[in-house]
Amino acid sequence: MNWLELAGIASHLFAPRSCPLCGELGRFVCEDCLSTALSAPAPLPRCVACGGPSPCVRHGTRYELRALAVHKDAARELLLCSKYGGAGGLARRLGREMARLAPEGEGWTVTTIPEHSHFSVFPRVFHLEWMARGFSDASGIPARSLLSWTRKFVPQKEQPDARSRRDLPRDCFACTHDVPGKIVLLDDVSTTGTTLERAASCLYAGGAKEVRCVAFSVAARG
Ligand SMILES: [Zn+2]
Ligand SMILES: [Zn+2]
Repeated sequence: MNWLELAGIASHLFAPRSCPLCGELGRFVCEDCLSTALSAPAPLPRCVACGGPSPCVRHGTRYELRALAVHKDAARELLLCSKYGGAGGLARRLGREMARLAPEGEGWTVTTIPEHSHFSVFPRVFHLEWMARGFSDASGIPARSLLSWTRKFVPQKEQPDARSRRDLPRDCFACTHDVPGKIVLLDDVSTTGTTLERAASCLYAGGAKEVRCVAFSVAARG
């Protein structure tokens, strides 16, 4: 058992599990609420390099992003709970659902956008790692950590506007391990797509041949 599992168990002692949408006890999310949250048609695949539909004329499927939901209403609430709720169980459950977005074929590895570095006295649950585990459980695609931030950045969601989000430097990620050829790059929510584009570019530069981005949700087109 690693620290992540211990932290997950410890957090349950302080926060008994219940469905964040209806309050039913004993579940991370109840199946009814989950299917209601995901009942709208999934957003169309987009290209995170240019923001258009995917496959795209310039990039093909090289920067394709697929997501389960638009980031609003119940889908948004579930995602925020998985991020800030303290336990990994909900993130893992959502990750299982995201396995529907897994690409066809063999030989894929799933990895996540890395955690922003920060100081914390208590071991924290990194929800994306749990989400990748759920994705891995349901798809059979092995999960590996492959990326790190090269320095401290203000997390994208805390940037004041879309323009400063797009200003993320091109060298903001580094590969921490040998990069396999086919990678599913997982994030929780994508707004401008810049974070995923930077991470995918880093993986391509590190030797990846195919990268497919998946997110639980994407920002509505504004
Ligand atoms: Zn519920
Ligand atoms: Zn494109």
